[in-house]
Amino acid sequence: MSVIGIDFGNESCYIAVAKAGGIETIANDYSLRGTPSCVAFSQKNRILGVAAKNQMVTNMKNTVFGFKRLLGRKFSDPLVQKELKHFPFKVEQRSDGGIGIRVNYLNEDNVFTPEQITAMLLTKLKDVAATALQTQINDCVISVPSYFTNAERNALLNAAGIAGLNVLRLMNETTATALTYGIYKQDLPGAEEKPRNVVFVDFGHSSLQVSACAFNKGKLRILATATDAQCGGRDIDMALADYFTQDFVTRYKLDARKNQRAYLRLLQEVEKLKKQMSANSTRLPLNIECFMEERDVSGDMQRSQMEQICAETFNRVERTLRAILHNAKLRSEDIHSVEIVGGSTRIPAVKSLIEQAFGKHASTTLNQDEAVARGCALQCAMLSPAVRVREFSITDVQPYAVRLAWDAARNEDGDMEVFPAFHAAPFSKMLTFYRKEPFSVSAYYSDQVPYPDTFIGQWQIKDVQPTPEGESQKVKLKVRVNIHGIITVASASLVEKKQDTSQNENIEMENSSENAQNQDTPMETNGGNQDQQQQNGPENNQEVRDEEMKGEPQQKQSWTQRVGQWFSGESDDKKDKSKDKSKKVLVKTVELPIEAQTHGLSVHELNGYVEQEGKMQAQDRQEKERADARNALEEYVYELRGKLSEGETLHDFVAEDQRNKLVNHLDSVEQWLYDEGEDQNRQVYSDKLSELKTEGEPIKQRRLEFELRPGALDEFALSI
Ligand code: ATP
Ligand code: MG
Repeated sequence: MSVIGIDFGNESCYIAVAKAGGIETIANDYSLRGTPSCVAFSQKNRILGVAAKNQMVTNMKNTVFGFKRLLGRKFSDPLVQKELKHFPFKVEQRSDGGIGIRVNYLNEDNVFTPEQITAMLLTKLKDVAATALQTQINDCVISVPSYFTNAERNALLNAAGIAGLNVLRLMNETTATALTYGIYKQDLPGAEEKPRNVVFVDFGHSSLQVSACAFNKGKLRILATATDAQCGGRDIDMALADYFTQDFVTRYKLDARKNQRAYLRLLQEVEKLKKQMSANSTRLPLNIECFMEERDVSGDMQRSQMEQICAETFNRVERTLRAILHNAKLRSEDIHSVEIVGGSTRIPAVKSLIEQAFGKHASTTLNQDEAVARGCALQCAMLSPAVRVREFSITDVQPYAVRLAWDAARNEDGDMEVFPAFHAAPFSKMLTFYRKEPFSVSAYYSDQVPYPDTFIGQWQIKDVQPTPEGESQKVKLKVRVNIHGIITVASASLVEKKQDTSQNENIEMENSSENAQNQDTPMETNGGNQDQQQQNGPENNQEVRDEEMKGEPQQKQSWTQRVGQWFSGESDDKKDKSKDKSKKVLVKTVELPIEAQTHGLSVHELNGYVEQEGKMQAQDRQEKERADARNALEEYVYELRGKLSEGETLHDFVAEDQRNKLVNHLDSVEQWLYDEGEDQNRQVYSDKLSELKTEGEPIKQRRLEFELRPGALDEFALSI
């Protein structure tokens, strides 16, 4: 079983694999490391990755791209409205308010969700990895922008679910980069020494992400992030395209805004020009043949001009670079180095902004395109038992403050901040409620989030009843930022206490207590975590305990194992330090059912999409087999006819009239292939191939037998 890391970029994806010898990046079916985030549809199949991008201009309405930023959003979302202005394909509102992408597939109108489209791309990546590694792929770590909110993260997990991938972690992109940087560094400061602070800048296609990270030997801790979700390389392309559009209107009276195909070609050309300008400061040409109205256009630009046209983008970059110093509470002197990744950090202006903001050169220690995928593969290896890698502790952050609100109890409403911005993650907090009846809590982002709605989720805690004496029960909620960066109420349990009476039972129960508590011990393998004790909350009865957690699945298990078990131990408030067992309190925790209402697909919807994806894959496979059969037939026709011609290997191994008949037959099959034989099913092609082979193979056989005779080749050489 292989463990892989996937960098799911807005423009392109990279896959890396962790092997005994280290991390490798996997090349796709076009021998390229980067696979475009592009999914297209045709009358017969889906076209994924490189092939999809290659046919974009000729199949514009059915080639979908830029969908990373649509995940988890509603159609009415202002960001979505802004994105879809640039899409040549149709996007519409679904009945549930979600996004529908309408394409023509198998000669029918089909509407897919962004989750489905993402799943299609992920199946391609899974396939690329499975082919390269010659093994099944299930476990993976997928990257997400650190600014992704709950809704977006859930949507990506759903997409992976549709693609049949088991995501061990959604990993923040700059954290993956930090891991790639840190794991092989031999000279990091010791555990007790002042950490090395490194800033990572990832300027990609759709956004800019910066993070500050503190490294010590064997561990990294993200201090803070600063991001601009609306500032990426594509904004430069669009500014340049606007400039040239205006230029062509003036000089040629051709308006690219009136022709989507022309605009798309212009975007592709300015992107090329932009890349050339990164390496070259002289004036560079831009030529597009047959641009509009069958006319060619040309223009030119030099770097300084581009910098002026894109000034707004560069101002935003500068602002975000400065924000990281503020968010991480660092001065530029505190920073050891600034590492850059992401395609758009190749732009010289970006490098000089970095120099100005931090007073040091941008360093390029890492592979700019592959660092994220490599970090994800490393993390996947760490989380999976399949591959052993060096231990490395990772503490990430949750970038937005999160509030929890609860409904009326004793006529009091309440809410509190459970996680301040840049709180360590993954992390769990225990909140204690005293309740006589079922109740609900809701979580909200309390900061400005790049999402139109701050709601995270609502959780109904069921089956709460008063004690036999009519008193409130103690209910503990575990509120968690989980390993994917998703905020959730992970469990609710009723805590019942009674004085111990039975010594025997006590001893037995003590063991189970230890087991249960050990399993619940924070972050055994993640290390470096402080177990904070804290009294907090607006009401006296809100007792808060912080503890850091490992991954979700293990925790779930430990909690279910605790259900209904009595165990003895120190009481929760840790006042009872007595070793005298007779004074110990028996504690029983009962897991309470929770009904969650949060983002993401229902199981029913997910199953429907999984089934639909399965059918599309079967269709793609069938189409591939059909195309392969057609190609095999075509190839045989060319090969045999070639060899039968004058002076070629089979020419003299068949009588002339038979040869002429066969060549005629081959010609007619060729004719048929381009005519009605263009679109037949697989069997028709393989039947025709067998028919030709009954004529062609005996000739080949005669030639072979001739060659195998001693001295045959000399004789053959004399004969020609
Ligand atoms: P994101 O991280 O935003 O989801 P991504 O990971 O797909 O997207 P990258 O592959 O890091 O993005 O970067 C792609 C961007 O980098 C594109 O906008 C591309 O034009 C730009 N780019 C690549 N090479 C250069 C270059 N030499 N000069 C300028 N820009 C470049
Ligand atoms: Mg990226």
